[in-house]
Amino acid sequence: MGSLKIENVKKAFGPVEVLKGINLEVTDGEFVVFVGPSGCGKSTLLRVIAGLEDSTSGRVVIDGQDVSVTPPAKRGIAMVFQTYALYPHLTVKNNMGLGLKQAGTPAAEIDRRIGIASSMLSLEPYLERRPAELSGGQRQRVAIGRAVVREPKLFLFDEPLSNLDAALRVNTRLEIAQLHRRLKATMIYVTHDQVEAMTLADKIVVLNAGRIEQIGGPMELYNSPANEFVAGFIGSPK
Ligand code: ADP
Ligand code: MG
Repeated sequence: MGSLKIENVKKAFGPVEVLKGINLEVTDGEFVVFVGPSGCGKSTLLRVIAGLEDSTSGRVVIDGQDVSVTPPAKRGIAMVFQTYALYPHLTVKNNMGLGLKQAGTPAAEIDRRIGIASSMLSLEPYLERRPAELSGGQRQRVAIGRAVVREPKLFLFDEPLSNLDAALRVNTRLEIAQLHRRLKATMIYVTHDQVEAMTLADKIVVLNAGRIEQIGGPMELYNSPANEFVAGFIGSPK
């Protein structure tokens, strides 16, 4: 489970309309990438999907349930941010387990899930370290691991590779792709990087100034961009 329906979602901050009527369907297990220039509304849309931000109108429905009336713990969503958002005073293990602990998950079950996630993400050697003792790539793997242990049906990634250097970006991108194959969860991934979009996505959503310009598979957008904007972002060079 992890299907998503976004129905005519609009979002304004004061007089400024940032999302101008977004419609999108994501099927269970799909990897969907949102691309678009800085400021076009990608993060806002992710936050609305996560229910962290209310839309001004329209709605987000996950597995038939309106997100805005579902309690956060029941939404089945985990989010990974560009800045990792780890607790500096907690070990890797406790960073990964904190959410589960707060939700009342038994310690043995927390340990079991951390064991699986840390093996998937090659984090076993670092479980007792604190974030300051890790590289950027390791920190982001911890943040991803923290999402994995919650066993969400929907993962939301907001530019997770932006703070990593080029080599680590490739590595971490491959790990995310592998995670998707293993977990078969639905993933929505925001980036402004064309290579990330082309290599990760089943479906790419091109956003521009709060609207969707085009939705399609990577090769579809590359070969048949709907307009100049999409061509400039993704399409084949003319
Ligand atoms: P992106 O992630 O595509 O770079 P954002 O969704 O962060 O874009 O922002 C889209 C627009 O909404 C920007 O112009 C930004 O300044 C504005 N914005 C985002 N969050 C807020 C907020 N809490 N209050 C006011 N304006 C906001
Ligand atoms: Mg953003």
